[in-house]
This record gives sequence, C-alpha cells and structure tokens, in this order.
Amino acid sequence: MHDGKAQLLSLKLTHGMKVSYDKISPDYVYLLSRIDLAILSGIVSPSSLAVIMGIRFGCNTKTTQEGRIVQRGGRYEIRINFCLKNNRSRLLSAKKTYQRTIDYFGGKIDRETGLIVWSPESAKRYAFYLLFHEIAHAVYCEQFTGGKLEGHGSSTEESWCDEYAAGALKKLPEAWVGMSWEAIGRVTPVAFEVAWIKLNLVEFLRHMNA
Ligand SMILES: [Zn+2]
Repeated sequence: MHDGKAQLLSLKLTHGMKVSYDKISPDYVYLLSRIDLAILSGIVSPSSLAVIMGIRFGCNTKTTQEGRIVQRGGRYEIRINFCLKNNRSRLLSAKKTYQRTIDYFGGKIDRETGLIVWSPESAKRYAFYLLFHEIAHAVYCEQFTGGKLEGHGSSTEESWCDEYAAGALKKLPEAWVGMSWEAIGRVTPVAFEVAWIKLNLVEFLRHMNA
C-alpha cells in the first residue's frame, strides 16, 4: 500500500456523476461522504452507474420522502434526504412496512418523541439502503420499462428495488459502515475522507479483488 495516492485516484467512480450536499447547520450530519460513494463502483455495474447523472444529499425536515429519483434527458438524478441530529432522525410514517424497515436496520423508534435513535453503523447502512433502492429504480426502468420513469413505483417495482438493495448491501464491506459518530460528524471535509479511505483501503481492495 505504498502508493496510496494512486490507489485513491483509481477509486474514482463517479463516472461524470455529480454529487452534491445541501448546506446544513452544524448540529446535523450526513451519513455518506463522497468517498463512501467510491464503493459504488465495486457494487453497482458500470452501465447502471453510467445512467445516474447525480446524487444530491439533502436535509429537508418538511418532506417525508427519504429517497426519490427523477429523470432528466436519458439519465437519472437521485435525491437522498436523510440526515441526523443528535443521532436521531424523524419517524416519517406510521406505516408498518416503513417501521419494519427501520427496525430491520437497527433504528430504535421512540414513539413519544417521534424520533428514531440510530447507532453510527445502523444509520450508515440505512443511508446506503436508501441510495441502493433509488439506484435500483433507474436499473429497473432501464431494464423493464424502456427507460421511461414516468408513473413508476408499482408494488412489483418497489419489491424488486428492495431486493436489489438487499443484494447490494450484502456486498458492502463491514469496515465500510463501521464508524464512530465523531467520524460521521466530519464526513464531508476532504482531509478526513482521505484518512478514512486509507484506513479502509485494504478492506476495500480485498473486496474489489474477491
Ligand atoms: Zn421506491
């Protein structure tokens, strides 16, 4: 691992994908950094990544939608609206399927406060789930509806996307999601990202070569 920089460059996986973060106040944190997204190239096929035009992370507390996808030209733009304050996110729905998902990912629902308490790992895994699920919509659309997203979201499609996300999560190395709150709080600064990727490079490469 002598040439860390070269390795880092080889992790470039955004394929002309634009990644952006809405500005948030310092008491909120995002779960996925640009470097976290580097893992996508080891998990999602290049042709699937190529149709994703951009990923935008937001922290809008007024919407109940944590993930959405829109079509622009022949490509797709994904929006992930998931951020935490004091290790918590808002409980967005009383729906059983939603709460079961939160439960599955290890979020602890506090009905009194209407908040979900997360561990760093569980929150990060859930954020990846949201992202994989939205990527799956693009893949589904390309494969089954001739690239037409309009009117999407049938229950067949939703379960297909959940299955795709489950498969993708299985390929996610443990080391990639295991991080501390302190580290998550510093997710965006570039210096930290470089340190983080170096720490995980060995695991990452092992994964890529597997
Ligand atoms: Zn969906």
